[in-house]
Amino acid sequence: MQEDKRTVVVTTLPVTPKFNRGLGSFTTVFVADMFNRWVGGRLFTPVNLISRIKKYRRSEADVDSARYYDILMKLGIVPVRTWRDDDPDFQERIKSIIEFFRVEGILTPRCISLLSCPCGAIEIPSDHLLTLYNSKLVENLSGQNPVCRKCSNSLKEVQMMVIKLDTSAVYERELSCTPSFWEKEVRNLFAGFPKKEIIISKRAVIEETKELLGVTFSEETYYLDPVFRWSQFLSGLDDVDDVVIVTGSRTVPYAVLSVWYAGIISPRINFSLLVHPSITFKDDKGTMRATTEELLDRYSRGEIRTLLGVGMTWGKESIIDSSLLYLIGHSIAPPKLLLNSELPEKRSKDLILSGSRSFIRWFNTKKVKELITRVRRGHQITQSDLQLLSALLA
Ligand SMILES: [Zn+2]
Repeated sequence: MQEDKRTVVVTTLPVTPKFNRGLGSFTTVFVADMFNRWVGGRLFTPVNLISRIKKYRRSEADVDSARYYDILMKLGIVPVRTWRDDDPDFQERIKSIIEFFRVEGILTPRCISLLSCPCGAIEIPSDHLLTLYNSKLVENLSGQNPVCRKCSNSLKEVQMMVIKLDTSAVYERELSCTPSFWEKEVRNLFAGFPKKEIIISKRAVIEETKELLGVTFSEETYYLDPVFRWSQFLSGLDDVDDVVIVTGSRTVPYAVLSVWYAGIISPRINFSLLVHPSITFKDDKGTMRATTEELLDRYSRGEIRTLLGVGMTWGKESIIDSSLLYLIGHSIAPPKLLLNSELPEKRSKDLILSGSRSFIRWFNTKKVKELITRVRRGHQITQSDLQLLSALLA
């Protein structure tokens, strides 16, 4: 019988390249690569270069983007598709999305009361303060005098023209998640959307991004919220059946938001989430200071990928002792003959949920540690171990 082959895209959320951080910031893209190898999909690694408050220069964005993709290459991660939020093509897409929302009658300009701070980081509808995304940005969230964590100023109430997306009747859906303990939280996040409006414009904008963020609406110019803008990154995936978004435990709300938007525009696509733990690397001095680039100078990609693999507890947080690198280096020094072990294709119709659930049974802390021990002791390893080792050594 002919197997139903589906086109699967495995993607991260758009990543803002940061190079002074440790290895943990490359966990998501590494897990996406491992899952993509497992599932036989197409890897998508978008980057996000526009920020509302920080400076933006096209030339610097080019350098950051090239450096990010260079690190991915050194980590053995080769996407079939790259994407930047400052691409001219994406700009055209954003215009058509805004037009689509306008024609659907769900996008409207409105004067509303917002809590705002001088630095522009906070612009929150007064009655939405206690929601989803705000606890990271606002100190004293539920108290009398909430304060912006970026500029340390009190929030003031202002009246402002905004464009808002009316979410009341638009879209509801189930989103499958692996590990399954995330499903309840994700259901709650989804359930929260239809009850409120989403403000998609921002007042604070820097000169260099005005052209990218500006939209004209009822003869007024508004600037799009960069989060709204990059959250449309899934909108170009018209020719695929399944999209798996790999995300860290702390960015699940953004993944849900992106899927929510994408569901309005591409209701046919089956979306799901694979949520990995946030990893902290410890050494004898506390948190490991070395950046990913420094580690890549010192260790092989296989050693670094295996260290990341040790962190896959599939809980919310994971702490790894980086001294394991020494042990890994003395265990899995690439036995070249092992490296051609192909993973079987799994692009069948029931792939996504069963595929990602069996993926975390195949790829987790226990399996990786057992593998290291077996290889070090010269014990025989199974076909499944061989496939795991091959994927780790990339
Ligand atoms: Zn502020």
